[in-house]
Amino acid sequence: MNIAIIGTGYVGLVSGACFADFGHSVVCVDSDASRIARLTAGEIPFYEPGLGELVERNTAAGRLTFTTDTARAVRESLVIFLAVGTPEGADGAADLSQIASAAAAIARSVDGYRIIVTKSTVPVGTGQWIGDQIRLLAGRPVDVDLVSNPEFLREGAAIGDFMRPDRVVIGTSSERAAAAMREVYRPLYLIETPIVVTDLPTAEMIKCASNAFLAVKISFMNEIANLCDAVGVDVHGVAKGMGLDKRIGSKFLHPGPGYGGSCFPKDTRALAALGAANGVRQQIVESAIEVNERQRQVVLDKIGAALGSVRSRTIAVLGLAFKPNTSDVREAPAVHICRSLAGAGATLRVFDPVAAGEAAHALADVRRSIEYVRDPYEAAVDADAVVIMTEWNEFRSLDLERLRGAMRTPILFDTRNVIDPKQARQTGFEYLCTGRQSVGAGDRVAVGS
Ligand code: NAD
Repeated sequence: MNIAIIGTGYVGLVSGACFADFGHSVVCVDSDASRIARLTAGEIPFYEPGLGELVERNTAAGRLTFTTDTARAVRESLVIFLAVGTPEGADGAADLSQIASAAAAIARSVDGYRIIVTKSTVPVGTGQWIGDQIRLLAGRPVDVDLVSNPEFLREGAAIGDFMRPDRVVIGTSSERAAAAMREVYRPLYLIETPIVVTDLPTAEMIKCASNAFLAVKISFMNEIANLCDAVGVDVHGVAKGMGLDKRIGSKFLHPGPGYGGSCFPKDTRALAALGAANGVRQQIVESAIEVNERQRQVVLDKIGAALGSVRSRTIAVLGLAFKPNTSDVREAPAVHICRSLAGAGATLRVFDPVAAGEAAHALADVRRSIEYVRDPYEAAVDADAVVIMTEWNEFRSLDLERLRGAMRTPILFDTRNVIDPKQARQTGFEYLCTGRQSVGAGDRVAVGS
C-alpha cells in the first residue's frame, strides 16, 4: 500500500515510521524544508524513545522517505493521511488553517481515486468540510473518500501506543475506504486490536470526547488532592482505593501541577468552543479547564508561602517537559511556573534530561533569570527551594542528602509526588507535595541548614 502522510510532526513521523514498519511504502511530507532536510540526513527533530531506530530501519529498507513535494506524494499514494497541527485559534476553537492548506494542496494534484484520512484532532464536521474543499478547489470532478482515523498515542510512549493501541477508530461512509483502512492496519487486526468502524463525525467526536474526559479525570483528582491536603489524607491511598473499582479505573488518578502538552489544553478549549457554538455548553469540561489553570496557581501559592516571597530567591526547577520521556514543552506546567517565578523576581536554576533546548526557546522572554544546568545537584547549589515539575524516573532516586547539602534552605516541593515524604522529611527537608502533606508529617528531623 502506498501511503502519504502530510505533516511530519510527532504524530506524522511516528505514524509514518510505524506504517512503514507494517510493510507499507510511506512518504512523509512537511512544508518545513529544514525539518525534511534533517530527517533525510537521519536526524530526529524531537526526543521520542525508540523512534530513531524505527526511522533508520525503515528508511534503510526503502519503505520510508521524506519530501516537501506534496503534489508528488499525492500522485503516488492511494491513502493520504493529514497529520498537520490544529492549534488553538483566537476564540479557543481549533485553528484549521494547516488543514485548509493541506486540503488545497491535495485538490491541486489529485488525479484519480484517493482516500483522505484525518489523523489530526479536529472538531466534528471537519472531515466533511475537507471533502467539500477538495471538490470545490479542484474545479473538476474528483474521486475522493474521506475518513476520520483519530490518533490516541501518548508522547513518550508513542511507538508502543501506535503498535499496540487499545483501539483503532475508523470513521467513514465508504465501504471501499473502510476496506483500504483495514488493509493499512492489517498487522493490528492480526493481534486482535479492537477496531471501531463508524461514521465520520462519530469518529471525530470519539477523539474530542476521549481527550476531554481524560482532562476532566485529571482535574477532578487534582481537586481531591487539594482537599486531601486540607483534611490530612494521603491522596495516593485514595487513588488506589478508587482505581480498583473497574468503573473508575486506576489510570489518570495521579495528582500534580495540572495537565499540559500539545493536546489536552487546546482540545478541551476546542470542545468547549464547539459546545458554545452549538448552544450546548460543556460545563464539566469548562470546569476542568478552570481547575487546571487554578492548579498552577496552587503550585505558585505553595512556593510563595514556603519562601515568604520569591523575589531575589534562587529556585531550582527539576523537569521542564510536560511529561517524562519527551522533549515537548508545549503548554508544560513547568514553563508556566518558570515564567511566573522569573516574573516575580526569582532566579532559576533549571534541569531537564532532554527538554532544556525546547524550554530555552519557549522561555526566551525571561532568559536573563534562568540558568540551564547539567544535573539536579548542580541546580540545587545555593537554592532556597527545589521544585520537581516533571516525573522523570531519575528524580525518583535522587540522593536527598546530597541535594539538601547543596541547598541554602532545605525546601523540597515535589509537585508530582515522586519522592517518599517520610524519607524527605527525615533528611531534614521541609517537604511539600500534592495531596500527601499528611504523610510522615511528624518525621521532620531538625538538621542545621
Ligand atoms: P506538530 O506541530 O508536531 O506537527 C505538525 C507538522 O505539520 C509540522 O511539522 C508542520 O510543519 C507540518 N505542516 C503544517 N502545515 C502543513 C502543510 N500544509 N503541508 C505539510 N506539512 C504541514 O503537531 P503534532 O503534535 O504531530 O500534532 C498533529 C495533530 O495530531 C494535531 O491535530 C494534534 O492535536 C494531534 N495529536 C497529537 C498528539 C500528540 O501527542 N502530539 C496525539 C494525538 C493527536
